[in-house]
Amino acid sequence: MSSNKKKLFLRALFDYDPDEDPAVPCKDAAVAFKRGDVLQVVSMEDDTWWQACHLGDSSTRAGLIPSQQLHERRVALQRPKALFKPRRVKPPAGLRRSFRLGRKSSWAREVARSRRWSTGVHGSIRPPTYIEVMPYHKDSKDRHRLVVLVGPNGVGVNELKRRLLISDPDHYGVTVPHTTREKRRQENEGVDYHFVSIHMFEEDILNHRFIEYGRYNGHYYGTSLDSVHRVMAEGKVCLLDVHPSKIKHVYTSEFKPYVVFVKPPRIEELRLTRRRAKFLCDEEDKNSVRIFSEEDFEDMIDLAETMERQCGHLFDKVIVNGDIAVAFRELKADLKKVEEAEVQWIPAEWIC
Ligand code: 5GP
Repeated sequence: MSSNKKKLFLRALFDYDPDEDPAVPCKDAAVAFKRGDVLQVVSMEDDTWWQACHLGDSSTRAGLIPSQQLHERRVALQRPKALFKPRRVKPPAGLRRSFRLGRKSSWAREVARSRRWSTGVHGSIRPPTYIEVMPYHKDSKDRHRLVVLVGPNGVGVNELKRRLLISDPDHYGVTVPHTTREKRRQENEGVDYHFVSIHMFEEDILNHRFIEYGRYNGHYYGTSLDSVHRVMAEGKVCLLDVHPSKIKHVYTSEFKPYVVFVKPPRIEELRLTRRRAKFLCDEEDKNSVRIFSEEDFEDMIDLAETMERQCGHLFDKVIVNGDIAVAFRELKADLKKVEEAEVQWIPAEWIC
């Protein structure tokens, strides 16, 4: 067993600043962190305050961080009651002890499971707190991780995907969807779509071969797991854009999805960038300038908040798309950094 296996690493799913926390027992003894930071946990003995240090900082003294229960309680107090049904997960004393002794952190896994169970993946709502992660050393023969882009309609997911593809077509690839509609004259089988019969499509639905599917104009359309495999087998980074509720279909050690959430900026900035609306709208509309109404902006922001509340624990990176050129640069640089990193931190459940 490697020494890392004896340690517990958590990725924070919220920002924490002790200077802004009037309830922290001692500000100097607390650790500030940002969403996405990896923390090495030293003690979970206390139900309210755990002790942890930043990754790579183990030589410095560990400090206090809010426990999962504490953070959940705080978020519950800030939210309308109807939206939040907390389910307390208390570690049995034996397991708390076993963590201190450095045995497998099964309670932390239970916490992660219960949080995942009760958030986006299964529908009810809990605030994102921490997720147990483990180091992953990518080998040159390992496939690239799947990159999943998610965000509300109109926020610019399609445009970001398009720009990534154009910027490096040998490196990035996209899936070819299935459809039951007739092939058009200029289209090619396996390039534009896989054209299949209704019978075949429905059989594939029954056999859970689709990550997502839907109907449009009386025809089926869908993205199959096989189409993701095909892009990955070519040695490319497969770019997939799906509704966050579909991430569960690829949330496995096989795909190791790196999930990027594309978020709208504040409404004031959305209003200001209205002139550039054509870059923010869906790819199929890219030649027409779509003017967003005030209601569109509000819907986009509301939907983004819902997505973040329900599936935020699955997002590895959040990019605010105020200016598409800036968002694209940030996305490209982030994907490069992840690929080149000696070690990546992935959910422990993919390894255990
Ligand atoms: P077309 O038939 O013009 O190629 O596509 C029409 C529409 O089908 C698209 O605008 C899109 O809404 C939908 N569509 C295309 N591919 C997919 C897919 O993979 N999944 C889903 N759910 N819809 C798709």
